[in-house]
Parts: sequence; structure tokens; C-alpha cells
Amino acid sequence: MAGGAIRELEAVLDAAVDPVIACDSGEHILHVNTATERLVGWDREQLLGKPVTKLFPSRLHSFQGVSLVRYLLSRRKLLSGRPTRVFARRKDGVELLVELTVGAAGVNEEERIVLTMRRLHEVIDTLDEPLEHVANGPEAPVRPEETGDRLYQLVVENAPQGIFHFDRVPILTACNEQFAQLMGTSKRNLVGVNLLTLRDENIMACVRESLGGQRCDYEGDYRALSTGKVTPVRVRFAPCYAEDGSVEGGVAIVEDITDRRRVEAEREENMAQLDLLFRGAPVGIGFLDTELRYVRINETLARINGLPAEAHVGHTLPELLGAPGAVAELGPRQVLRTGEPMVSQEATTEDLGAPGPMRSFSGSFYPVRTPDGRVLGVGVLLEDVTERKRAEEERAHLYGEAQEAVRVRDDFLSIASHELKTPLTPLSLRLATLERRLERGEHLDPSVLRHARHQLTRLTGLINDLLDASRIEAGRLALHPEDTRFDQLVEHTLASLEGQRGNHVFDFERPPRTISVHGDAYRLEQVVLNLLENALKYSPDGGTIRVRLSVDEDVAVLSVKDPGIGIPEDQQRQLFDRYFRARNASSRSYGGLGLGLYISRDIVERHGGRIWVESEPGQGSTFYVALPTLAAARPGLPLAWADRHLH
Ligand code: ADP
Repeated sequence: MAGGAIRELEAVLDAAVDPVIACDSGEHILHVNTATERLVGWDREQLLGKPVTKLFPSRLHSFQGVSLVRYLLSRRKLLSGRPTRVFARRKDGVELLVELTVGAAGVNEEERIVLTMRRLHEVIDTLDEPLEHVANGPEAPVRPEETGDRLYQLVVENAPQGIFHFDRVPILTACNEQFAQLMGTSKRNLVGVNLLTLRDENIMACVRESLGGQRCDYEGDYRALSTGKVTPVRVRFAPCYAEDGSVEGGVAIVEDITDRRRVEAEREENMAQLDLLFRGAPVGIGFLDTELRYVRINETLARINGLPAEAHVGHTLPELLGAPGAVAELGPRQVLRTGEPMVSQEATTEDLGAPGPMRSFSGSFYPVRTPDGRVLGVGVLLEDVTERKRAEEERAHLYGEAQEAVRVRDDFLSIASHELKTPLTPLSLRLATLERRLERGEHLDPSVLRHARHQLTRLTGLINDLLDASRIEAGRLALHPEDTRFDQLVEHTLASLEGQRGNHVFDFERPPRTISVHGDAYRLEQVVLNLLENALKYSPDGGTIRVRLSVDEDVAVLSVKDPGIGIPEDQQRQLFDRYFRARNASSRSYGGLGLGLYISRDIVERHGGRIWVESEPGQGSTFYVALPTLAAARPGLPLAWADRHLH
């Protein structure tokens, strides 16, 4: 060909937009145009005479025993002018996806092969030629690198995340369908986009990082250009290296984190709620790991242990509470050993070595397991049951008291009916005797009448006691206080018992001077009489009853000491309760309603005085009554101690 014609042809080729490469029959480069130089980065001079394979990655150098060029030439008919997508290799090692068309003219030495290329920005787009036979023909030998390429493509295309590659510019050179979907546009629109145009400083920072050889993570909201839809995404950037080890670009994996964000938000909310529940629970809650160290503890439990919640974490119970902690740890330890829960274990502040006033707790320990059954530690629930226990005890106490009251009432009814009936039989017998004698006109024995009257007096006394007791209960026992000679009152009462004392001896030790009190003489006599009658009743016939009246600092003290059966120590306090009768005073041997001392105490106390007993079973008893003397009262003024109670 003439030199001029060649130059003309060269000029035409240089004007072409797409790269064109001409080779001889041995596939050595004869000519490249300017577009080729631009695409592959080599100068024309550097390429002339070199094998055309220099422009392709080594894995594409041969197919089924023939060169890439020959392979494509052999399939020319089949392709009927359609290009084949292959990778071209740039001078700097970067692989570019190109559409390649191969043609040939002439034969043998004269053969000229022409390759035309068109750069594609999409790498991951096709599995077609020249690799289709790898996938389809089972008889075709499978070459590892081909399978590898195809697998890469499959992996990238099927990845659940969006993936894109960018070069150093940074131009987005390739992406998968997922990414295009995430961005809300097509691959074709995305490939070739300069990432700078996204105008996102954070993304650019990551792009720069990855181009600098560093990995980088980005998290943010992506707003689709077309639809405006906002998608929260997480993008992980990593550098891509060329064969010579330099960074040729970067790859990014884009994850739609809408679901993750929602799940995280829900989880956070759930956790916050759980945390509130945990913190605010009125029950102590804690979690110990398998070494029985606290992992978590709520305020309530921390308070019970008497230490701040933070002080617990990482420590065992013995470390926190000393020796009692070792005892408290036995429960959780057993749970770890057996894997069985322990519920409703009772403990007190004392057991736990906890400070403050005594409180009671009910604790449960249980194994905390993962869903697959692995034991993570021990859960601790501790409830303060002090109030509940107190209420239970109170209830039990009240129930006991109620039962006792019922028993006392029942006893009283049977005793009272017996007591009231007792005088009636002799009374009616005596009255019958009197009647008979009167009818017969016989002489009347005054002792029969006296005895009948005695029974009546006894009956009247019992009924009066009953009436007084009910008046006291209703707060209606009236007192009529006046200045009263108490010494005379005692003497008079003793004298009134002359007929009743049998063989008993009254030994009365009088006071050195007169004693006056401000009181209701009738009621005070009732008190003294009751004490003297009891002394007679509860001591053997013939015994000496010592009665002593003295004054001690404006207080008159009367004591009545008998040599009788005495009173069991544990019952002495109850003697003055309504209906109470000591267990050694059986109703069979000693009649009585258990009201005398009850009434006496009320009368004495309402006079501002006190009544008490000293006694030993079998050794006799001494009853004391202390009353303020008249001198103790300020002249002209009503007595404060009496006034409160007078009606
Ligand atoms: P009662 O009518 O039963 O004597 P009281 O109220 O006078 O009622 O006395 C209550 C109880 O106190 C008696 O049942 C008895 O058990 C005991 N008691 C009272 N006085 C004496 C005493 N002097 N010696 C022994 N026990 C006494």
C-alpha cells in the first residue's frame, strides 16, 4: 500500500471514537488508533510489533487451545457481527470491560486482523460469549479461571446487598442490580456517574479513605433522586488493588438497613421498657453469672444488700457481704449444681448480714438459660415480706385472741349458770322447810332463815358483779367521791365479815394515824371486801390473813396477805381481766365468776390508784391497793386523778 494511502487510513482511524487495533496473521500489532491509546494507556510506539494479547488479561489469552482472537474469529459467523464482552487490560493493570469485535481480511501472510473495542462501564452485566460454552456444554472442558469469573459474577449479582466499584477518579464503573434498585434507577444511569456529584461529604470521605488503602464505613439516609424516597443505608468501602499492588479503585457494599433500624429501634424500646421494669420493680432482682458474680442488680436488691448497685457488679456475695454472703450464696450455688429452681426461701436481714432494722425476705433462685438450654447464670428474686409477715402474725394473734375470747365466754356462761344456780337449791330447800313448819304450826328456826338470807345475799352479790362488769364495759359505772376515812372503811369491812370468816383469823395492822382519801366509800368497800373474801376463799380454813394499812408519801397502801393456794406466775398479770380465773382455782373447788378483781381494778384506777399482786403458788398471795391520800390532793381543787374518771 502506498505510504500516502496508509497515512490517510491512519488519519481516518484516529478520527474514530472507538479503539481500533490492526494485527498481522501472527497477532502482532501493526497499528493502533488514538482511541486505543487513550483506552489502554500505552503509546502507539510501545505497542507496535507486540502480541495483541498484551491488551488482555492473561486468563483471556487462550480458549480451548486457541488464542482469544482466533477463538472469536472461529465464531464470527455465529456472532454475525455482534460484539463480545471481554476484559481489556490497561497499562496500569486495571481491567476494563469492553465490547470487542474481531474481523479478518486476506489469507496466510497477508492476513490482517482488526479488533474494534468499545468501553463499557458495566462489568457485571453479561454471562454471554465468550464464556457461554463453559456454562452450557458438559462436554466442554471447564477451565478454572472461567468458572471463577462466572462465579464472581454470580456471587456479585446474587448478593443481597448492593455492590459497586469505582475507579480513582472516582467514577462509578460497575454495580449490581441490587444497588441500582436501592438507588431507584437503572445500572446504565449509574455507571459512569462521578461520585463527587453525590455531594455527600461523608461518602466522599469514605471514597478517599478507600482510595488511600483504608476500609471505611458510612451510615446515613439516601434520598433517591427520582422518587425522593429515603432509605437508611450502611455502606462499607474497601480499596481494590491492581496486580502491582497499587490501589486502582474501591468497592462498596451497600446495605438497606431499614429493617435493621426498625428492629434496632424496637429492641431499644423493648430494652428501655425492660430496664424500667427492672429498675422500678418493688422486688429485688439480680443476675449472677456462672461464677456467681453479679452481672446486674436493681435498686431494690441493692438497697436490701445495703450497697450501691454499681458496687455489686463483678463481685460475689461473700465478697460483698462477708460471712453471711457465703450463707446467702448457698441457694444460687445449689441452683447451678442441680439446674433446678429454688423458690420461696425465707431469710432475714440478719441472715444476709444486711444493716438496718430486722426485715424478712422471701427469695427465689432460678437458672437463667439460653434458648438452647445453656445455663448463663442464676436469677435472684428477693421480696421484702416483712409487712406481710407482720400482718400474718397479727392476724394469727387476733385469731388466737378471738378464739380465747370465745372460750372465755363459753367458760363464763357455764360457770355463771352454775354459780347462779348453786344458791338456788339450798334456798328453795330452806323455803320449803319453812313452809312445812309454818303449815304444821311448828317452831321456826331462825338459822334456817339466816341461811336462806345468806344464799340470797350470795345471789345478789353475783348479779351485782355481773351488772357492775357490764356497766364498766359500757363506761357507765358511776362513782360518788367524797372525803372518806379509809382506815375506818377497812376496819368496818373486816368487821362485816365476822360471820363469814369461819376459823380464819384476821390480823389487822392499823396505821399509826388516820388515813383519808377522796373516794366513793361504797365502791372502795367493794374492793376491800373482794380482797378479803378472796383471801378467805383461796386459803385453807384456820389460816391467818394479815391485813396492813399504811401511808407512804401521801399514798395509802392496803395489803391483804393470805397463806392460800397462790397464783401461777404466768397468770398473775391476767388476774384483773374480765372473767379470768387462774387455772389452780377450779370452779369445782372454788366458786366465782372471775369478775371481782376486774371490777376492783376499774374502781381503784378510777380513784387514781393502783392494784397488784405478789404471789407464789402454794405459798399464798398478797394483794396491794395503793390510793392517793387526801393530803395528796390540792385543797379546794377537785383531784386531778379522780376527776378524769368521775361521772
Ligand atoms: P373469782 O370470783 O373467781 O374469785 P376474782 O376476780 O376475785 O374472781 O379473782 C380472779 C381469780 O384470781 C380467781 O378466780 C383466782 O384464780 C385468783 N385469785 C384471786 N384472789 C386470790 C387469792 N387470794 N389467792 C389465790 N388466787 C386468787
